[in-house]
Amino acid sequence: MNHDFDVLSAARNWRFKEVRQVSSDIAGEVFASDVLDMDELRELVSKPVWQSFQNTVQKGAPLDPSIADTIALAMKKWALEKGATHYTHWFHPLTGYTAEKHDSFYNPISDGKVIASFSGKELIQGEPDASSFPSGGLRATFEARGYTAWDPTSPAFIMRHSNGATLCIPTAFVSWTGEALDLKTPLLRSIEALNKSAQRALRYFGVEANKVFSTLGSEQEYFLIDEEFYFRRPDLVLTGRTLFGAKPPRGQELEDHYFGSIPDRVLSFMSDVENQLYALGIPVKTRHNEVAPSQYEIAPVFEPSNLAADHQQLIMQVLKNTARRYGMVALLHEKPFAGINGSGKHCNWSMGTDTGINLLEPGETPHENLQFLFFCAAVIKAVDMHQDLLRISVASASNDHRLGANEAPPAIISIFLGEQLTEVFEGMLNGHRGGGRGTGVLELGVPVLPRLPKHSGDRNRTSPFAFTGNKFEFRAVGSSQSISFPITVLNTIVADAIDAMVDAVEAKMREKRSFEEAALEVIKQVYRDHKRIVFNGDGYSPAWHKEAEKRGLLNLRTAVDAIERLTDEKNMRLFSRLGVLNEREVRARQEIMYDIYFKQVNIEGETTEWIVQTQILPGALGYLAELSEIEVKSRAAERTIQQVVEATDALSDALEKLKVQNAELGGDEVHEKAHHMRDNVLPAMAEVRKAADALERILADKYWPLPSYREMLFIK
Ligand code: ADP
Ligand code: MG
Repeated sequence: MNHDFDVLSAARNWRFKEVRQVSSDIAGEVFASDVLDMDELRELVSKPVWQSFQNTVQKGAPLDPSIADTIALAMKKWALEKGATHYTHWFHPLTGYTAEKHDSFYNPISDGKVIASFSGKELIQGEPDASSFPSGGLRATFEARGYTAWDPTSPAFIMRHSNGATLCIPTAFVSWTGEALDLKTPLLRSIEALNKSAQRALRYFGVEANKVFSTLGSEQEYFLIDEEFYFRRPDLVLTGRTLFGAKPPRGQELEDHYFGSIPDRVLSFMSDVENQLYALGIPVKTRHNEVAPSQYEIAPVFEPSNLAADHQQLIMQVLKNTARRYGMVALLHEKPFAGINGSGKHCNWSMGTDTGINLLEPGETPHENLQFLFFCAAVIKAVDMHQDLLRISVASASNDHRLGANEAPPAIISIFLGEQLTEVFEGMLNGHRGGGRGTGVLELGVPVLPRLPKHSGDRNRTSPFAFTGNKFEFRAVGSSQSISFPITVLNTIVADAIDAMVDAVEAKMREKRSFEEAALEVIKQVYRDHKRIVFNGDGYSPAWHKEAEKRGLLNLRTAVDAIERLTDEKNMRLFSRLGVLNEREVRARQEIMYDIYFKQVNIEGETTEWIVQTQILPGALGYLAELSEIEVKSRAAERTIQQVVEATDALSDALEKLKVQNAELGGDEVHEKAHHMRDNVLPAMAEVRKAADALERILADKYWPLPSYREMLFIK
C-alpha cells in the first residue's frame, strides 16, 4: 500500500501495549465475581423479602413494589463495593446491539455534598429517551417514551472499563402500549410458550418438572487483524467488511490454520477475554484457530437460552473492547474478506427441564426413547413447516455473503439427522422390526435406540440444521447478529409443533388407544409428512439444489426474499397464537429488517464510491503520471502503461455506473429501497470491485492506497 507508515510497525508495536496479567484462580477468585448471583443477593436481604422476590423470579409473579426498594439498596451496596459509580438498564433494542444509558449513583444533598442512592423505582423501570431506537412504527415519534423493565431472571452484573465500572441491570424494552421494542421480550415470551407446550406433553410421559426451557450454546467465529491496518481501511471502519481486495497468492488452501497453534499475541488476548467473561459468570470453554487465516472461535458451555442470549452479547462486546488493548481489532462481520471463509455463529439448541433432563437426549429404555423420538419429531415438523421463519431469523445483508456461497450452510433449510437416527425413523415407517443398525423393536413397536455416540456422523458440516447427538445445531446464524430472534423462532415453532402433536395424540386416545400407541402413531405420521426436510448429504452440491426444488423446499436466496415472508398470514397467526408477537410487532420487525438492510448496503455503496474516487483512482493516475515520464523505449514500460490505462478506465467506467445507482433510492417505501439496493447497488458495487481488484494486481505497490489482504491476514 501507499506507505506513509511502516507495515512492520503493525507487527511490532503491540508489545508495548498493556498486557493484563490475569488470575488463574478461576474457580475461587474469578468466576462470577462481577455477577450478583442469587445466593449473594439472598444474604443481603431479609427472608420475607427474599421469598416475595423468589415468587417473581421462579413463578413469574409481578414484583411487589414494596420490596423493590430493599432489593435496590442491596444491589447498590454490592455494586459500590465492586467499584461501580454508575448504573444502567442494559437492553436489546431492535438494532441487534445492546444499549445502555448510564446514570450516576451520586446525587447532591443540601450541604454541597453528594450521596449514593438507588431506589426501587430506578431498579424496576427506566425511561431512556427512546425516540432514536428503531420501532418500525410501533411508537410514534411524538410519543417517544418507551420504558425499560427489569428482567429479574437474568442477574445484574458489573461491566468494567479501563477506568471504572458500571452496574448493568438486564431489562426488557417496551412501548407504553406494552408492545415489544426489543429482542428480549419476545424471547422471554417464546420461552414461556415452549414451557407450556412441553409440559403439556411431558405429563403424558410421567415426567415432573416445574419448568421446561430451551438451552443454548453458541460458537462465535471472528477475525483479528492489527489495528494499524484496520484504521487505514475506511471500508472496514464504516461497513465492517473489505469492499476491495485482490485475493493474495495464499489464502486458506494450505489448510494450515484450523486448530493450528495460536500465536502468543492472540492467546494473550484470548486469556484476557476469558478472564473478563469468567468474571461475568459466562462459562467459556473452547478456543481455537478457525479455517481462514487470522480467524478464531470462542464457545461457552450451554445455558438457559435467555441467559445465553445476554451472555452472547457480552461475549461480542468483550471481544471488541479487549482486542484494542492488544493493538488489534476483532471483526465480527459475516464476511470481512472475500475468497476465504466467512464467520458464523452456530447455535446449539435443545430443551431441558429444571430437574436436569435433556429432552433431545436419546434414552436407554423404550419409554425414554419414545419421549426422545416425540420431541425430535416435533423439531422435524417445526423446521419443515417453518423453513421460511428460520431463514428469516438469520436474514441480513451481511449474512447473504455466507448463505448460499460455497462455504457456509446454504440458504435452503434442511435437517441433517445422521444415518442412525434416520434409519430409526425410516424403520418405524416401514414397520421393520429393528430400526437402525443395532436397534430392536420391542412390544408396542417402540424402537430401542442404540446408544448414539455423541456426534455420530456429525462430520457433515454442510447442513444448516444438524442433529449432533443430544441437541440440534443451527449453523446459518450470522457471526455479528444477536441470537435472540433465531432462538425466539426456534422456541416458537417447536412449541407449536409439540402442541399440534399432543392434540393429535389426545384425539387418538379418545379413540381408546393407549398413550404409547397413540404417540407412536403420531410420531410416524409426523415423520412421514415432514421427512422431505431431512437431508444427510452435501448441502453445497448443485445436485442438492435441484433435489431440494423437487422436494418443494424453499430457497430464499437473499435476505430481501426472506424478509418479505415474515408477514405471511401463517407467520402472523403462529406468533400471535403463541403470544410471542402480535401483528403490529411482526410488521414492525419486518419494517426494521428492510430498513437495516437498505441502510447497510447504501452505506457500502457510498463507501465504495468514496474510496475509489478519492483513494484508488488518484493512486492509479499518480502511477500513470510517473510511467508517462519514462523516456527510454521499453516494452515493459509500454505494456505496463497499456495495462494500467485499461484497468483504470474500466474502474472509472464502473464507478460512474455505481454513482448513478447510489443517487437513486428505488422508491419511497422501505421495501422498495431494499430491493433497489439488492438489484442495482450490489451488482454495481461488484463491478467496481472486480475492476479495482484487477487494478490492485498491476499497480505499483506504493500507489495502492489500502492495506492488502496479504498484509492484513498474514502480518500478525
Ligand atoms: P462441537 O463439535 O460442535 O464443538 P460440542 O459438544 O463441543 O460440539 O458442543 C458445542 C456447543 O454445544 C457447546 O457450546 C456446548 O455447550 C453446546 N451444547 C452441548 N449440549 C447442549 C445442550 N443440551 N443444549 C444446548 N447446547 C448444548
Ligand atoms: Mg459445533
